[in-house]
Amino acid sequence: MIGRCVRCGREDVLVDGRLCPQCYLEVRGLGRLPEPIEVVVCPRCGSYRYQGRWYPPPIDASNIEDVVREVIRLVAAARFRPNPEVESYRVENVEYIRDQFHGDYAIVRVVGKLRGVEREYSLEYRVRVNVKKQLCPQCFKKAGGAVEAILQVRGEGGRLSEEQRRSVEEVLEELSPAIREYISDVVEKREGFDLVLVDQGVAKAIASKLRSALGAKVVESWKVVGRRRDGRPKKRLTLSVRLPFFSIGSLVEMEGRLYRVVGIKNGFVYVRSIGARRVHRLSVEKAWRLLHQPRFEEEQRVLVAAVTPSSIHLQSLEDGYEYIELPKASVRFEPETVRVGREAILVRHNGRYYVLPLPEER
Ligand SMILES: [Zn+2]
Ligand SMILES: [Zn+2]
Repeated sequence: MIGRCVRCGREDVLVDGRLCPQCYLEVRGLGRLPEPIEVVVCPRCGSYRYQGRWYPPPIDASNIEDVVREVIRLVAAARFRPNPEVESYRVENVEYIRDQFHGDYAIVRVVGKLRGVEREYSLEYRVRVNVKKQLCPQCFKKAGGAVEAILQVRGEGGRLSEEQRRSVEEVLEELSPAIREYISDVVEKREGFDLVLVDQGVAKAIASKLRSALGAKVVESWKVVGRRRDGRPKKRLTLSVRLPFFSIGSLVEMEGRLYRVVGIKNGFVYVRSIGARRVHRLSVEKAWRLLHQPRFEEEQRVLVAAVTPSSIHLQSLEDGYEYIELPKASVRFEPETVRVGREAILVRHNGRYYVLPLPEER
């Protein structure tokens, strides 16, 4: 249909009854490419996993980076959602760019034809990609056959939160590709996920890294799963890795007082008492024993109305808008929280008052 484009005013074919091809492409493109593109490629043979199934190598696997690019292209073509006015399309080529600061991405070139227009148009899409290298089941069997270890990642209360999952994934992404090759599968569970590994040493190294970086508690157990040729029992290692309820910034209770977790590093958890400067260092095991989720006897949102050398004046922001004056000596707080005009949370914990920053401002 020929007509006047509502955007540029030119007489041309109107692709959707309103826009000329040029304007149509600028406004609507050829379609949508959902992000991120996730691909799993076997580093040994170049097979890839898509929607839970393994497929044979799409091209000769002598250069694994070429395979990765080709797999991204195939997955992008499968996931591309063309607009209704697009008659045909193909994904022509893909550039895969590693960017450790903003995340890896790909430039995907899509070529397509619009209904009623003779020529082809070419557009570039920039999409986030997640490439994982993981042994396929066949290479996994060749590599040694049996599952040697299972590493179960869970949260303290049984379930892994989204935030905890992300922090675990960050730790896993920092592992060297050589170590990641030993992860033969990732099995999603309702309470978290399991890493299936072909090597017990690697499993222990990963568990110890999660303990060191996130304060996870690790429990080892073995199960006899068969006999070796020489008759010795063959044992599978299970590592239960539980993430603590706290992370950096969490408010915790220790021996009746409130503390803030200020760091987790090298297997130690660092906590600072609210209103004090001294930082205590606890081993992960000790932190699990001593730190608890605090429960408050009272809790209310307040506005800091005035601060004098001897007292703090607060205006409650909850029903009644009560005015509260607390002698400084009787309340604990982080100095940056108690500034006139700022909102904060006043809590009573174990008989003591604390003025805490709003949860979103920590
Ligand atoms: Zn136009
Ligand atoms: Zn393979």
